[in-house]
Amino acid sequence: MSLTHLGIPVDINTEFETVIGLEVHVQLATESKQFSVAKSRLNATESVAEESVNANTTPVCAGHPGTLPALNKKSVEYAIKAGLATNCKINLKSVFSRKHYFYPDLPKGYQISQYDLPVCQHGHLDVELSGDQVKRIGITRIHMEEDAGKNVHLAGFSLVNLNRAGVPLVEVVSEPDMRSAEEAGSYLRKLYAIVTCLGVCDGNLQEGNFRCDANVSIRPKGSTQLGTRAEIKNVNSFRFVEKAIEYEAERQRQVILSGGKVIQETRLYDSQKNQTFSMRSKEEAEDYRYFPDPDLPPLMIEQKTIDALKASLPELPDQKRDRFIKDFGLNKYDATMITAGAALARFFEDAVALSGNENAKTIANLVIGEPTRLMNEAGLDIGSSKFKSAQFSDLGKMIASKTISSTAAKQIIAILFNEGGDVGAIVDREGLKQVNDLSALEPLIDQIIASNPKQVEEFRSGKEKILGFFVGQAMKATGGKANPGMLQDLVIKKLKGN
Ligand code: ADP
Ligand code: MG
Repeated sequence: MSLTHLGIPVDINTEFETVIGLEVHVQLATESKQFSVAKSRLNATESVAEESVNANTTPVCAGHPGTLPALNKKSVEYAIKAGLATNCKINLKSVFSRKHYFYPDLPKGYQISQYDLPVCQHGHLDVELSGDQVKRIGITRIHMEEDAGKNVHLAGFSLVNLNRAGVPLVEVVSEPDMRSAEEAGSYLRKLYAIVTCLGVCDGNLQEGNFRCDANVSIRPKGSTQLGTRAEIKNVNSFRFVEKAIEYEAERQRQVILSGGKVIQETRLYDSQKNQTFSMRSKEEAEDYRYFPDPDLPPLMIEQKTIDALKASLPELPDQKRDRFIKDFGLNKYDATMITAGAALARFFEDAVALSGNENAKTIANLVIGEPTRLMNEAGLDIGSSKFKSAQFSDLGKMIASKTISSTAAKQIIAILFNEGGDVGAIVDREGLKQVNDLSALEPLIDQIIASNPKQVEEFRSGKEKILGFFVGQAMKATGGKANPGMLQDLVIKKLKGN
């Protein structure tokens, strides 16, 4: 039996293309909820404290009959800003609709969302790919909606926490324009950089401030039709979205090559197993019985409001990146990494301001290397970590003055991450000062050379690699504190016998 997909014959040698469209829920950082005066943002202690469960809830959030929604103006401004920063057209008239479904965390029985007339449409983002390529990804629409509450499942029973019910969100829906996990990751990071830079989203990934549904299908390369998609729900880490897409594309390929059919369904990603699994078959839009919410008049936005918001936009990540390249001499990769989140960019600029522009490159390298790795591992971001800009300014200055080596800086960063503290004090305490006066080392190097005649011979006969052996021996004797460049120069001088 010969196999086909989208009417095209396929076999094990067929090259498939992955097609991805992303729906991102961005939680808006307003003080109160979308349609009620209930508090929307919980601080870190509140969000875990037992006594705060259901404390940020009004009869509106709980869906009591007779209550009426009152639109939060700030949420509209934030949605418009997000639209402007992603090159969208802002609709002067948009409509709130009811999206019906039953779930205990949705007491009204419907979610207020926008359907056929969203607030923003027809935008795009230009995203950077490897090899200096840039690709334009279309944004179909950005609509406003309210979040649902949260079910907490315990042994034999479940509880409902409505603190999140009614929290304002925008959903940013992309065109199915992405063709790889890399493109999807790059798009997400760019969108994240923009909404955090605008200040319309707090950007706390652990708290679900920015969560993504990835729609994935595959097709034989060259086909212009779309394959049936699976929608992977609620992934809240960029890396996991990339991995889920890779897994899912390969799963679909195997389904097709084994004679099966990809079915339209909602799947979940298990990051521990690195697999997606089926959650439910997907609802069609008709199932939601959308209709305009009779309690909310159409949302009319004046052009002058849009113009004023446009004029108020801050420097956006792309502009910031270009400025960092120009003013601080960063390369494009480093500048993109540094401007990937508003908080990180501010942290970097503060450190450079304290330390001087001449140390900017060193500080950029320090910031995007070890700290990023440590924070990712611990699920922290720059704001929730113990890192302070002043520490990185000090590190930059000490590397520039050769007081410490970059290896020592890495050690210090690990200590700062765990304990915080003053860089100078840590350098003293841990004895990390770099030795730059190597005259005391000369007799030692002479001795190493004298006791290894065979290696010396190798070096002199042109086997320069052996140099590492001598430098390593000498470095060991100094407890790793010698300035590596100077030490190498000294060893070469001695080996050449002058
Ligand atoms: P829904 O809201 O029901 O998930 P939409 O039609 O609004 O449906 O599409 C949602 C997302 O799915 C969009 O980002 C779109 O680009 C993407 N998408 C639609 N069809 C496909 C497909 N065949 N393959 C990959 N992505 C798709
Ligand atoms: Mg969807």
